[in-house]
Formats: sequence, C-alpha cells, structure tokens
Amino acid sequence: MRVHPAGPRSGELAHDGVHSGPPQDLNELDPVVWPLGAGRSGAGHLTLRGHDVRDLVAEHGTPVFLLDEADLRRRCRDYRDAFGGAMVFYAAKAFLCTAVARWVEEEGLGLDVCTGGELEVAVRAGFPGDRLLLHGNNKSVAELSAALDAGVGRVVVDSLTEIDRLSQLCVQRGMTQRVLVRATVGVEAHTHEFIATAHEDQKFGFSLAGGDALDAVRRVLDAPGLDLVGLHSHIGSQIFDSGGFEVAAHRVVGLMAQVRDELGAGLTELNLGGGLGIAYVSGDDPADVVEMGRSLARIVERECTAYGLPVPRLAIEPGRGIVGPGTVTVYEVGTVKPVEGLRTFVSVDGGMSDNIRTALYDADYTVVLASRASEAPAMLSRVVGKHCESGDVVVKDAWLPADVGGGDLLAVAATGAYCRSMASTYNHVPRPPVVAVTEAGSRVLVRRETVDDLLVLDIE
Ligand SMILES: *Cc1c(COP(=O)(O)O)cnc(C)c1O
Repeated sequence: MRVHPAGPRSGELAHDGVHSGPPQDLNELDPVVWPLGAGRSGAGHLTLRGHDVRDLVAEHGTPVFLLDEADLRRRCRDYRDAFGGAMVFYAAKAFLCTAVARWVEEEGLGLDVCTGGELEVAVRAGFPGDRLLLHGNNKSVAELSAALDAGVGRVVVDSLTEIDRLSQLCVQRGMTQRVLVRATVGVEAHTHEFIATAHEDQKFGFSLAGGDALDAVRRVLDAPGLDLVGLHSHIGSQIFDSGGFEVAAHRVVGLMAQVRDELGAGLTELNLGGGLGIAYVSGDDPADVVEMGRSLARIVERECTAYGLPVPRLAIEPGRGIVGPGTVTVYEVGTVKPVEGLRTFVSVDGGMSDNIRTALYDADYTVVLASRASEAPAMLSRVVGKHCESGDVVVKDAWLPADVGGGDLLAVAATGAYCRSMASTYNHVPRPPVVAVTEAGSRVLVRRETVDDLLVLDIE
C-alpha cells in the first residue's frame, strides 16, 4: 500500500528540471523556510536577529553556519508543550555540540545519542544521564560500558548480541538498566509519503511481523540486570502527517498486547521515534507540532483502548524538527558559468563537504542572494560547490537574480540538520564553523577547521 503519493508540490521544481516559474519577488523570504529571526534590512541585506549577514561574515568568514539560538530554543519548547507529558528526546545526530546539548537540557528535553562520540559530547556538556537514551545497531562493549558509566536512563536494544552483552555488563556492575526493544514495524516513511508494507529488510531493529521482536522481548525479560520498560519504533524522516505513525502505532501496540498476553509483562513506555518533517522550500507543508502531538497521543490512546491496555507514556525523538529550521549557511559566490539555453552554474566556496544532502538524498533547498537586494530578472541557476565532483550540488534548481556574481553572498535556508553533522573534509576543505546569533550578538560554538587541523592527523 502506497499512501499519499508524492507529486511535485507547488513551488517545487519537478526533478526533470522543469519549473512552474520564478517566484514573484526574489528578495522575499518565505517565513515557512527561514529562521524565525531572519529578515531583510532597509538596504535589502539578509539579517538574523537584526544583524546584517555582511557584518556576520566580516567577522566569521564564509562558508558559515549561522544558528538562530532563539529559533532552536523555541522549537524545543514547542515540542515539549505540544507533546505534553510525553518524553521528548532530541536526536543528537541531526547536530550536536556542547552548547546545543546545554540548550536542549535547559529547555527540558532529553537527548538521544547513538555512538560513544555523541555520548561523550553529552557527558562533557554535563547532560543529566537519566535523560539520555542510547541507540545504535552495533553498540560496542566500550560504548555500552560508557553509557552505563554515564548512567543513561534508557538503552534501546537492537540485537540479541547486544542484549546478552548489556546484561553481562550490568551483572558485573551489580546494577539494573532500563531498556526498550526496537521493533521494525514494516512502515517506511520518507519525503512526504509512507509505505505500510515496507520490507523489514534493514539493519535496524527486530522484525515485528517475523516474530523476532517478541523473541527479543522474551530474551530481555529473562536477562538479569535488564528492566524492560517499553518498545521503540522509528519509521523514517521528513514525515508531514500522522498517517505513517498511525500504522506504526497500531502494530507496535499490537506487540505490547502480545507481550502482555503471551509473556505476562506490562510495558509502560512507547517511543515512536523521530522523523517529523520541516519545510525546505515554499509549498512544503509539514504538520503543525501541536497538531502532531495531539494526533499521536490520540492514536496511541485509541489503539490501547482497543487492546484493553493501559496507555503507556509516549516518547518521541525529533532531530531535524528542532535544529533544522533555525540555521542558514552563508557562502560567497566565486565563479558564474552560463550554459546556453539550460541554466547558469553559480559556484560557492563550500559544497558537498558542508551539505551532502542534495547529492545523497536529492534534497531541495531554498537559496537567496543575501548581501544585497536585486531588481534583476530571475535566472534559472544551479548552486554548486568547489569540489572535484560533478555531483557537488548544493541547490539543484534555484531562481537567482541574473546579476549575481563573484563576491555576492548566498544564503541557503534550513541547513541546521544533517549538514554540519554529516560534513566531511573532502578535498581537504576544512569544515565551516557554527556561529550562534542572538539579539545581543554572535558567538562561535564550533570554530572553523583549518588545514593545520587536518594535517595534525598526518603523522608521517
Ligand atoms: C534519525 C533518527 C531520529 C531523528 O530523525 P529526524 O528525522 O531528524 O527527526 C530519531 N530516532 C531515530 C532512531 C533515528 O534514527
């Protein structure tokens, strides 16, 4: 069953490159796409929390990730409020540094980490262990030990090997660890549609349909040192409505009922994972967080009532929804190359090393001329990077003013999630800094990498 077929949305470019036409005003900032603190100055320069990007760039250079701190904090609060008593764990993989870990903590959220590295950032930030949740399909003994040392509140177990390993470690330490079992429910959501009969042919979790999930639950219940508190399911990313969650909740609550009926165990937590979508281009229409919170609570309640189960405590793990919208990447234009009758290639001083999502997922982004206003006509452009790779594309199809040229600044919206965190040093291009911007000013959270940083590793 394929639900919500994804046709080209309004304002979106079809993938054959044909476009419905340029926007009315190239200088306009669609508020669904840009950070809450973004605007244009009287002179037409892009501003963030009242600071001119030209000044921010003069101070911090390009390319640069500019993070609207108030935007991120506001989204943390929106999630916390919208999901009421639910536990909200920010998914660190979207972007993590110690400052962001502290903000998330201050805003009352938990943190979902999935490697020893992410865990270490949380520990260094002083994140309370009991609000941490550890994921991962291949957690090493060292990672599990570090998690126990940090006192993580929950471990989401993903394999039988892990269950045995973790149990052994807990017994050695004479302690009990709360765990959830990750079930693969056969729902796959991505880019605005979901498939309810997706193959459970993936590396994560225990297959529900195949009975592996029930076996894993049995194994945990029998394992000394482990306290099974609930089940986990994560169905994908960029989800725009509750349809996929509805099917997932139906199946996973069904498993809870089976656990009660066949194993006599009551589970008190249900974690529905992350994946709530955000707008990257005008016309993207993700569900409102409050609406989503209400629907998920309602769906779980209804499913539990149907099975005569007490309603478990709901948990979710938003990553993109918290850090995605508040950050913009600012680049400087270098060269411009028109290809007659097709498009103009606009090259910037970063590329696939700071944003791999376009190459990896064919992702769409919104880009504007940021350093000035322009009345020039719209020009169909492809914003590309500086790497030795023809797939090095930042924005595949964009309308930019025809007078764009070397020295201009371009800003790409909604780059807070999975850009800096997935950044590479391909071609020995150092990774850009992350700069927090507030009304009071700007401060570097993660400094710019240098070629010397890269050469530190080169020890011959
Ligand atoms: C990636 C992931 C998330 C976060 O996904 P977003 O799309 O960023 O919200 C949450 N939970 C798990 C298990 C994940 O793998």
